[in-house]
Amino acid sequence: MTAFTPEEAERLRAADRRHVWHPFTQMQEWTADPDDPLVIATADGFHLVDVDGRRYIDGVSSLWVNVHGHRHAALDAALTAQLGAVAHSTLLGLASVPSIRLAERLVALAPRGLSRVFYSDSGSTAVEIALKIAFQYWQQRGDPRRTRFLALRDAYHGDTLGSVSVGGMDLFHRIFRPLLFEALRAPPPYCYRCALGKTWPDCALACADDLCATLRAHAGEVAAVVVEPLVMGAAGMITAPAGWLARVRAACDETGALLICDEVATGFGRTGKMFACEHEAVAPDLLCVAKGLTGGYLPLAATLATERVYEAFLGAYADQRTFFHGHTYTGNALACAVALANLDTFERERTLERLAPKIALLHELLAPLRAHPHVGEVRQRGFMVGIELVADRATRAPYAYEDKMGAQVARAARRRGAILRPLGNVVVLMPPLAIDEETLRTLVAVARAGIDEVAGAAAPP
Ligand code: PLP
Repeated sequence: MTAFTPEEAERLRAADRRHVWHPFTQMQEWTADPDDPLVIATADGFHLVDVDGRRYIDGVSSLWVNVHGHRHAALDAALTAQLGAVAHSTLLGLASVPSIRLAERLVALAPRGLSRVFYSDSGSTAVEIALKIAFQYWQQRGDPRRTRFLALRDAYHGDTLGSVSVGGMDLFHRIFRPLLFEALRAPPPYCYRCALGKTWPDCALACADDLCATLRAHAGEVAAVVVEPLVMGAAGMITAPAGWLARVRAACDETGALLICDEVATGFGRTGKMFACEHEAVAPDLLCVAKGLTGGYLPLAATLATERVYEAFLGAYADQRTFFHGHTYTGNALACAVALANLDTFERERTLERLAPKIALLHELLAPLRAHPHVGEVRQRGFMVGIELVADRATRAPYAYEDKMGAQVARAARRRGAILRPLGNVVVLMPPLAIDEETLRTLVAVARAGIDEVAGAAAPP
């Protein structure tokens, strides 16, 4: 392990404050906070290690990407082997061995009917590409009125302007509104704060019906419906009730709109199955994957399409039906090689089979939090957890934005040896899928202690 002298560690922190602009970060606070930055130097298994040698459980899988742990021997070896072959060659005009092999594997794993793989390098680009493919598809299928997208309020699909247009998180997105195209909107399946004032299951999925009604009202105009299947991640781990996704698929079939499933967060085992769509036997027309695709090693994304969608782009060179889109590092060989090793490791280590009892254990460990006076709801789907903190449990009144409750809990957890990254008032747990039971227990205990410290553990009023 690389050792850093206290002087070098301090120099790095100072240089970070001087030069690095961090994502989703108020830099004025960051640079003024004596505890920031925590500089990670190494990692092993389920822990991150900082430049001072302190160890932290990676409680959010390094922003939802890590699967088998850090410095996994098989993933490391695959990268080294690929380095001995070629690090990168372009897919514009050339093919490459690992990108071909990975495409074969993805098609075999993905929901039925998805047979074509378009590579890119982040979740945002995977969604951007799906939107552009859907748009161009209808232009070339002779139905040019289908130019609109239907998306959910509170959705998050990434930070490029197309994905922001179908996003719906006011805090992140409102300033860019003049730059965005307008999407049709449907209410999210957020049962704890139902926009329709209903209660599950008596509502009989009224929010899905609302979506279907909007879709029918605009049937001839909608190119595609865009959803995060089963769990709306960045919105606060909002878990859709059973049947919601299947109903959206049925409405797309009825009206002819394409269905884009953004599995950037839910893909690669997060919900307990390889893809969230599998829980409801849904097959989208376009599937976006990224994050866990490389097991958390390298930036790689893919947009999978059906043969029907793909065929709309075929024609003579002169017809100009080509999908004119691509990124310099599209299908990077190192990333594809490590993605293949990630998928091999899923099989060899029976990752999903071994995950099932850990999902149940996690549910059990979270049980005491459900009675906490400042926990409104604990949402869990597989290894995706959102603990929504509330100022008042009876009225469900949220804490004010300035209270920074989630951030305070994360800071308290960090002092106890776990890294968390909240979403507003929602404390997120997203452990690596391969985490061992003992580390999982410690992680939940640390999160609980952090919530008690910040929100208090007093009896409910
Ligand atoms: N889509 C979903 C559902 C996500 O959760 C995210 C990121 O959290 C994205 C898209 C954007 O991915 P990226 O940050 O890799 O651009």
